[in-house]
Amino acid sequence: LRPQVLDLGDALSDLTMLLRRLIGEKVKLDLVHGRDLWPVKVDVSQFEQVVVNLAVNARDAMPDGGKLSVRTANVSADEVAQGAYKGMPVADYVRIDISDTGTGIPAEIREKIFEPFFSTKEVGKGTGLGLSTVYGIIKQTGGFIYVESELGKGTSFQIFLPRHHVVP
Ligand code: ADP
Ligand code: MG
Repeated sequence: LRPQVLDLGDALSDLTMLLRRLIGEKVKLDLVHGRDLWPVKVDVSQFEQVVVNLAVNARDAMPDGGKLSVRTANVSADEVAQGAYKGMPVADYVRIDISDTGTGIPAEIREKIFEPFFSTKEVGKGTGLGLSTVYGIIKQTGGFIYVESELGKGTSFQIFLPRHHVVP
């Protein structure tokens, strides 16, 4: 594990080709980066695992095609303090949203999706380890992950990683 100080916009740009390949031709990729993102400290290969696992799930949820959106933005401590963000300690974060226009997640399983080995996929198509891995990595990085989903409309995962303060 080698956490590195990096710009998430750059890290995501490095993954663009891989993402396009993963999601296939029927799914459109929409990457929008916020300007002047604060640095975060993450292990690059772990960050890649997070993005890949979420992209594979999004693809699986869009068998007839759709759109995968990846957005980044700074979220200031002030915004967190104003209460828009559920239960996170007041601090600066960099936010990554990964959203799809897929099937959505039924309310009755939404609590379970981060549990290891929980899967609704056919045997051989999913291990049920994708989201538990994502959750573990985000927690280890000091971040937070939330999901919003609407049946028939799509799913959005929101990740908040703490801003890394560079000591001059
Ligand atoms: P797996 O993909 O191997 O089934 P995951 O841990 O990655 O395991 O996901 C667990 C379950 O959460 C999936 O089986 C699926 O039911 C649900 N899920 C995850 N991401 C999405 C998504 N983007 N859209 C709809 N359902 C999802
Ligand atoms: Mg998965």
